[in-house]
Amino acid sequence: MTVLWAERALLPEGWAENIRVTLSPEGRIAEVTPDAAPEGQRFGLLLPAMANLHSHAFQRAMAGLSEAKGPEPRDTFWTWRQIMYRFLDHLTPEDVEAIAALVQMEMLEAGYATNVEFHYLHHQPGGAHYDNIGEMSARIAAAAARTGIGLTLLPVHYQFGGCDRRGLGAGQVRFGTTPEDFARLLDSAEAAIRGLPDAGIGVAPHSLRAVSPEGLAFCAALRPDRPIHLHLAEQVPEIEEVSAAYGLRPVEWVLENCAPDARWTFIHLTHMTEDETRRLARTGAVAGLCPITESSLGDGIFNGTVWAAEKGRLGFGSDSNIRISLTEELRTLEYSQRLRDRARAIYATREGSTGRVIYDAGLDGGRTAAGRETGAIAPGLWADLCAVDVDNPVMAGRGGDEMLDSLIFAGHDGLVRDVWSGGRHVVREGRHMDHDRITGDYIACIRRLQERM
Ligand code: ZN
Repeated sequence: MTVLWAERALLPEGWAENIRVTLSPEGRIAEVTPDAAPEGQRFGLLLPAMANLHSHAFQRAMAGLSEAKGPEPRDTFWTWRQIMYRFLDHLTPEDVEAIAALVQMEMLEAGYATNVEFHYLHHQPGGAHYDNIGEMSARIAAAAARTGIGLTLLPVHYQFGGCDRRGLGAGQVRFGTTPEDFARLLDSAEAAIRGLPDAGIGVAPHSLRAVSPEGLAFCAALRPDRPIHLHLAEQVPEIEEVSAAYGLRPVEWVLENCAPDARWTFIHLTHMTEDETRRLARTGAVAGLCPITESSLGDGIFNGTVWAAEKGRLGFGSDSNIRISLTEELRTLEYSQRLRDRARAIYATREGSTGRVIYDAGLDGGRTAAGRETGAIAPGLWADLCAVDVDNPVMAGRGGDEMLDSLIFAGHDGLVRDVWSGGRHVVREGRHMDHDRITGDYIACIRRLQERM
């Protein structure tokens, strides 16, 4: 049994002092005792660590490569996507494993305990399958074995180049799956995570552009008790394409055809009418928000105030991984709402401050989207924990919700000192235990990539 003790901790019932947390050998929280005498490893502030609910790991390697003026008069999501497609022509399975390890390490060092990987880079350049159709999924799992992050692997089903069922473009052939391919790929991915005691599987029909209604239903039926994620309503041209094809806007279509509930996570949901926002929020589905990426891509601003008024669930993902920062992800959501509404403390309620409300929301949404027993410091759950440096000047004199507000709005990820995922103590004193080797392998991978490109 591992024993941790903290001066303060965020428990399901609220802030508590002098807490002893015992971890079982399997990596779960065995016991939580407030008002306990100090013993074991000691910390100032202990938080439940959040799940990062949306990531495409390989995109980390192109961070910073899409900021120059392109040939089009206006650079948009769609011109960014062209750069992304050119880039991924060159990635090998070894590259994907090295990049995923860096991404997972950075997530852990930022205070996330779980990587929900929306994984769509399946095949060789040109589209031929690897001998094992789940080769790339196995590489993501191998990275997780190395970094110790909790993994929820979501293999992606990707059938078409658009709602009219056109074939895949040259940049998309590495993603393509028929329903039969996808079923085999899912089995292979599930086999790849079998050695990871706390990993889980789910399914991800990519979007309404890339998957037919039958393809989506097929996906949903394959693992009916596991999470299902799709990109939805991120971009205006996507809304127009779906509306033209199906006579309904994407969110309307999902409400009519999918009976969404807590099993469903919809990534982005940037462009919703007020009516769509209210109706979808009431279903219990999770809004998978990626505020840094949505800012980077110029997507737009989530209708957060209406979603919150209906008690809609939400969580956070780093998506393109242009920057992996938990504090900045949360801060960017709140600030986007402030800039639009010219107001402050948008998410604060009578019960909780802004930081507290969005941190709690991210724990709930992340847990739900990951399909993982996590999200609180409570017996029986995986020990996904984050210790914060209370000796940093930013935290001086802070108590209760002010600690989260100061961490998120005045601090940075450098205040994250120790992180446990499934009881594995992988970040100590702010650094992942294998930081230097993972970083070195990533840099070597990028140099090789540059030579090939
Ligand atoms: Zn995405």
